[in-house]
Amino acid sequence: MTATTRVCEDDGESRAWKTIWARKIWNAQQDRIRVIAGRRFQRVPYGREGRGWHASDGPCHDCAVTPGQLHVPGCDVERCPACRGQMITCGCVVR
Ligand SMILES: [Zn+2]
Ligand SMILES: [Zn+2]
Repeated sequence: MTATTRVCEDDGESRAWKTIWARKIWNAQQDRIRVIAGRRFQRVPYGREGRGWHASDGPCHDCAVTPGQLHVPGCDVERCPACRGQMITCGCVVR
C-alpha cells in the first residue's frame, strides 16, 4: 500500500488511500454475518483464526485491522466460519 490518493468507491471523491482504508475497516465491523448454505454465521475476528494460523499481536498483515476486529472483506487472513478454511479461497460464500 502506498500513500497515494485514490478515488473513493463510495462517493467518487479523491482521498488519501489511508482514509479510504480506514472507512473500509469501519464498514467491515458492521458486516458481522455471513450466510453460508442457508445458515447464518458470525464472521471470525482477527486473532480467533485458531491454532497454527499465526495471527500476531500486531495489526493484520493484509488488511491492518487490530486483534478482535473483523477483517476487511477480501483479506487473505480471514477464516471461513463454516469450514475454517481461508475465506477468500474456500468457496463457501458465493460472490
Ligand atoms: Zn485481515
Ligand atoms: Zn468455507
